[in-house]
Amino acid sequence: MEQMVKGTYVYKVDPEKPDPNKIAACAWLLKTGKTVAFPTETVYGLGADALCPEAVAGIFAAKGRPSDNPLIVHVAKREDCELLAEPVSARARRLMEIFWPGPLTLVLPRRKGVSPLVTAGLDTVALRMPDHKVALALIQEAKMPIAAPSANVSGRPSPTCAAHVLKDMAGRIGAVLDGGETGIGLESTVLDVTRKVPVILRPGGITRLDIEAVLGEVKVEKTQEDEAIFLPRSPGMKYRHYAPEADMLVVEGNPNRTAEEIIKEAKAASAAGKKVVVLAPKEHLFRYEGFWAVSMGQEKKPETIARRLYKLLREMDDLRVDLILAQGIDSSGIGAAIMNRLRKASGFSIRRV
Ligand code: AMP
Ligand code: MG
Repeated sequence: MEQMVKGTYVYKVDPEKPDPNKIAACAWLLKTGKTVAFPTETVYGLGADALCPEAVAGIFAAKGRPSDNPLIVHVAKREDCELLAEPVSARARRLMEIFWPGPLTLVLPRRKGVSPLVTAGLDTVALRMPDHKVALALIQEAKMPIAAPSANVSGRPSPTCAAHVLKDMAGRIGAVLDGGETGIGLESTVLDVTRKVPVILRPGGITRLDIEAVLGEVKVEKTQEDEAIFLPRSPGMKYRHYAPEADMLVVEGNPNRTAEEIIKEAKAASAAGKKVVVLAPKEHLFRYEGFWAVSMGQEKKPETIARRLYKLLREMDDLRVDLILAQGIDSSGIGAAIMNRLRKASGFSIRRV
């Protein structure tokens, strides 16, 4: 049986074997132009019929998302890309063969019929096939491509469980399919394959090395965090994102000096009466004895950090923390996506030591 929270249906499903009746109920909501949040392997998405502009408008309204930030469209079959993108290059097909279903979003030339609301007026469209049984079942049952950004209020950390979705969205969306916690915990990699040399617009679950192994050279879009220049080619890059309510400072560099700097900041903020927390990899917690320090996960297994990052940021809000001091990690592999989100969450309040 479903539950209801402030007018939003909550359907609890087995992530491996979702109840077809609950999927059908949510597919029906989508067909009638409503929004439905659902789990993917990255984070929870807030879906609507990608081919119905009124339905897509519902996503922007629920999230308070600026209309110049385009959405990713989710498909369950590679063939469905033809409905949305044209041409689908041989290179794009190869990437789909290898990485789909999975956390790789491809930016392709948009087909004429695709609503400018989905693409924010761009002549490209972003497509992905999620690797999650609930998401795939929903898309198949609804028989439509589903436009779905992360299911959080714009600017907040992305939801990695149904409780996060409800906290932000109860009463603003039709339903949520509760399939438990998501696996990866950070959003998909966004890759622009319309350029001669493909460009990573947003680092994510699929790493640069993974893509280079298939395509050879791949560029990474310069963003605020590594250059003072600002090139919002992926429009979502220009907004403050993933942000907790607390102030946040990211300290990067040599771990000894990083810890010294963080302790200095923690002392000053505590003396000023602020509630301060240090987020650091488990292996480094010993550096912060006498301070409130929480494990981000294991530096040696950065996927554990990816999985719990947003949850931690939301927990710090619940605990009414005033200042989060985060110790940066190595930005290779999935570390690139983790550091991208940490830096953005801090509003680019970054200190390199
Ligand atoms: P979200 O689904 O909320 O995680 O955000 C989707 C991300 O994909 C945002 O950063 C968008 O700017 C980006 N995106 C979506 N469509 C396009 C596109 N056509 N070109 C470039 N970036 C896009
Ligand atoms: Mg988002």
